[in-house]
Amino acid sequence: MSNVTAKKPRKLGTTSTAMDLPATPNPNLQGDQLLHFSHPQHPLLQISLPYLFTCMGCKEYGAGRRFRCQTCGFDLHDFCALAPPALHNHPFHHKHQLVFFTKPGGFLRSKCDICGKAAKGFGFRCTTCSFEMHPCCAAMRVVMNFPTHQHPLLLSPSAAVATGDPSTVCSVCQRKRSGRVYRCAAACGYCLHAVCAKDIVNGLYVHGLRSPDKPNNMLGTAAKLATQALVGIIGGLVEGIGEGIGSVLMDSIGRGSCRSIKHN
Ligand SMILES: [Zn+2]
Ligand SMILES: [Zn+2]
Ligand SMILES: [Zn+2]
Ligand SMILES: [Zn+2]
Ligand SMILES: [Zn+2]
Ligand SMILES: [Zn+2]
Repeated sequence: MSNVTAKKPRKLGTTSTAMDLPATPNPNLQGDQLLHFSHPQHPLLQISLPYLFTCMGCKEYGAGRRFRCQTCGFDLHDFCALAPPALHNHPFHHKHQLVFFTKPGGFLRSKCDICGKAAKGFGFRCTTCSFEMHPCCAAMRVVMNFPTHQHPLLLSPSAAVATGDPSTVCSVCQRKRSGRVYRCAAACGYCLHAVCAKDIVNGLYVHGLRSPDKPNNMLGTAAKLATQALVGIIGGLVEGIGEGIGSVLMDSIGRGSCRSIKHN
């Protein structure tokens, strides 16, 4: 009766909605405070805010749970902040060991093999071949439940990525995009890009946010709209003034002096 093996039934975690990167005990994590090497000047606090952020680790978007510097607003995804130094036997690339890196190092390629987007910051890279992926992509699983569909979805092997195949229209973005694809495990035809699945894992979906594809263009549009609005307001003001106070003010504006109004 002595050596009863106290093995707890372990969930294999093949079907999961949670981000469960292998959690190695992190000596820098104290309660909900983390001292992270990428931001040594201040401790980061694990909090949840419904707003979009850019992770300063992987440079990808996120929303909801994060590690945030309360002093300067530095944000990290949970899985970037707590990324282990290496991944062994990861279901996306089980044949080789993957090591954590902070900057893309390859000269030839720095593209995530799961979502197809550029790797611009933190990631995991294979020590043997050219495989690499974002930490948020590493937090996904081969079979996952997503809130967008009632059946579990299965990540297609990279070889099965079809281009131009109408059956690969993503149910979330309905666009053609690179990267791998999740398909319904019950074979009902539902299809979801890994890059779109990532917005669910990153917390964007649950907060009603979408990944801004081209932030520069969006900023440009916003600035243009703001300018148009401002022109509209000024135009309206000038019209209103023109009817009311009369031409004196208009004249004074024209002359570049406002004092003349009181003077009259
Ligand atoms: Zn990140
Ligand atoms: Zn800080
Ligand atoms: Zn990725
Ligand atoms: Zn490899
Ligand atoms: Zn999509
Ligand atoms: Zn289905």
